[in-house]
Amino acid sequence: MSWNTDEWVPDDRDAPPLDEEPPYDEYRGAFAEAGTGGRPVPAVAPSRYATPAEALRTVFGYDEFRGQQQAVIDRVVAGGDAVVLMPTGGGKSLCYQIPSLVREGTGVVVSPLIALMQDQVDALTAVGVRAAFLNSTQDSGQRAAVERAYVSGELDILYVAPERLASESTKRFLERGTVALFAIDEAHCVSQWGHDFRPDYLALSELAERWPGVPRIALTATATEATHRELTSRLRLEAAEHFVADFDRPNIQYRIVPKVDVRRQLLDFITGEHAGDAGIVYALSRNSVERVAEFLSSNGLTALPYHAGMEAPVRARTQARFLREEGVIVVATIAFGMGIDKPDVRFVAHVDLPKSVEGYYQETGRAGRDGLPSTAWLAYGLQDVVQQRRMIDDSPGDLAHRRRLTQHLDAMLALCETVQCRRVNLLGYFGQRSEPCGNCDTCITPPESWDGTVPAQKLLSTVVRLQRERGQRFGAGHLIDILRGKRTARVDQHGHDALATWGIGADLSESQWRGVARQLIAQELLKPEGEYGVLGLTPESARVLSGDRTVVLRTEPERPERSSRSSSRSVASADLAVEDQPLFEALRSWRAGQAREQGVPAYIVFGDATLRAVAAARPATMSALDGITGIGAKKREAYGEALLEVVAGASGG
Ligand code: ADP
Ligand code: ZN
Repeated sequence: MSWNTDEWVPDDRDAPPLDEEPPYDEYRGAFAEAGTGGRPVPAVAPSRYATPAEALRTVFGYDEFRGQQQAVIDRVVAGGDAVVLMPTGGGKSLCYQIPSLVREGTGVVVSPLIALMQDQVDALTAVGVRAAFLNSTQDSGQRAAVERAYVSGELDILYVAPERLASESTKRFLERGTVALFAIDEAHCVSQWGHDFRPDYLALSELAERWPGVPRIALTATATEATHRELTSRLRLEAAEHFVADFDRPNIQYRIVPKVDVRRQLLDFITGEHAGDAGIVYALSRNSVERVAEFLSSNGLTALPYHAGMEAPVRARTQARFLREEGVIVVATIAFGMGIDKPDVRFVAHVDLPKSVEGYYQETGRAGRDGLPSTAWLAYGLQDVVQQRRMIDDSPGDLAHRRRLTQHLDAMLALCETVQCRRVNLLGYFGQRSEPCGNCDTCITPPESWDGTVPAQKLLSTVVRLQRERGQRFGAGHLIDILRGKRTARVDQHGHDALATWGIGADLSESQWRGVARQLIAQELLKPEGEYGVLGLTPESARVLSGDRTVVLRTEPERPERSSRSSSRSVASADLAVEDQPLFEALRSWRAGQAREQGVPAYIVFGDATLRAVAAARPATMSALDGITGIGAKKREAYGEALLEVVAGASGG
């Protein structure tokens, strides 16, 4: 493995654990049947649906396909291969689930995270699909039960871990039944350009030879052209039709704020805008994960740390609580989140600068899969840039590797420093043109740019003078003290008040100067070096000093942050009519009871979108439930009466 982007941060080799998770049932109460979520596989079930539209309505309770779902499904149902690039929350699952219900045989789904297979199977079982999984958490008896069900054609969908599919015995076993299709989820894991490379995925190229007549569909939410090209060739999908969705996630509000006191800023953000909501906070190191989680907890929030240094059972318990309880915040390294399809994550916050736009987009994409308003919040400061530039310099690996890391970082910095719409920048990175969105910080409070040539010259010449006259180098903090004429022990010790640039920058505040320094580093006009990140010049610096190049900087907002939402009401109920809110809350607490009773996440019972629709429609009869999104035949049967009772109770009382 030559250049996994993570390898130069020793502290976060946090590729999500594959096979070391303990059996999920440790945390959910005992269940008997293997891999079927505790419910017996029905002996007879209506499996084949004549058309995709029928399956969509009857099984999932949705009226129409979204975006390109229909086209993808038609392609696979007809036996063709497909490559599907769709943002998180775009609805990738239906693209292979429905063909699995329409085509003869079992849909085999390759999914990298075995800890989540149970939930995926639970969600399908809840709508009446016969699903199961095969992975290392099962004992041989459980595995044998699933295998029997597959061979006798009693499974619609079978989830398999990639390393299992690589083994000859698994392939032989699959040949004893009928495979309807192969779905390769998180297909970017086969690409080394991306950020989640998994060697096990390479073996999936063999599926093409072994099952030439079986359609294969590869899906991912990672959409750069490089990843797209690489996964197509590595998975031997040359003959596939490609479906590239619009990558915009309009319900996510993107905000990037200058870092001042990041934990306090984070706390204000959460309590001010997302009180009681579920969210993920990403940090770069384990240490920072633990400190942030502790800080949030000590301020009364339910915040749990998650990183690869923790014991597997603790991690699994944290994940289970995040999925099952409402309003849990997980503070995590990048190890957390892939494959977690909890639809009601209301915010994703980054307290450290992500290393690539691809990673950032994928992580923020975990917010708001249900389409309801959500926030992606990132705090970013001088220290982030210093640290990351330095880590790239120190990283092992060849020049090409470092160059790639630099490209990733530069794209991320360009996003942070842009004075244009964040979304236009993000989508542009994925090759999509768009108009200013109105739902990001720069659209809401347009920043200004200013001519920072003179301050840049002051800062650069301080660096030059220290170096030439004294042979010294310092970090940004001390340089700013000199420019602002701030007397400190270090100034006295070195006699820096005698420098020609002493006190010439008193017109800017300390935080403004930090902004200048950060942007100069981002623009590669200053370069952090060595262990302490002392600043040195770059070839371009000379052109600024000589006046041959001007420097355009982004104005730092005086008050670091302005939110567009004033209310601290939970977002899930936002823009629901006031008179419908009590019913919505009643439905939520009914749902919580159901979820607890069955030991499944609340969203497996019903998503927020469905409860909102029920609260607004106030159905009085079973048939009135029919048109409501997310209520299919199975759920209507299981919960219909109970829903009507909650509605009647709330309306009557
Ligand atoms: P992805 O895997 O692409 O992140 P999912 O398949 O988890 O997205 O779908 C995201 C959410 O959208 C889920 O809650 C899903 O039930 C819902 N959804 C998907 N397709 C439709 C549809 N055609 N109509 C309504 N809701 C849909
Ligand atoms: Zn915008």
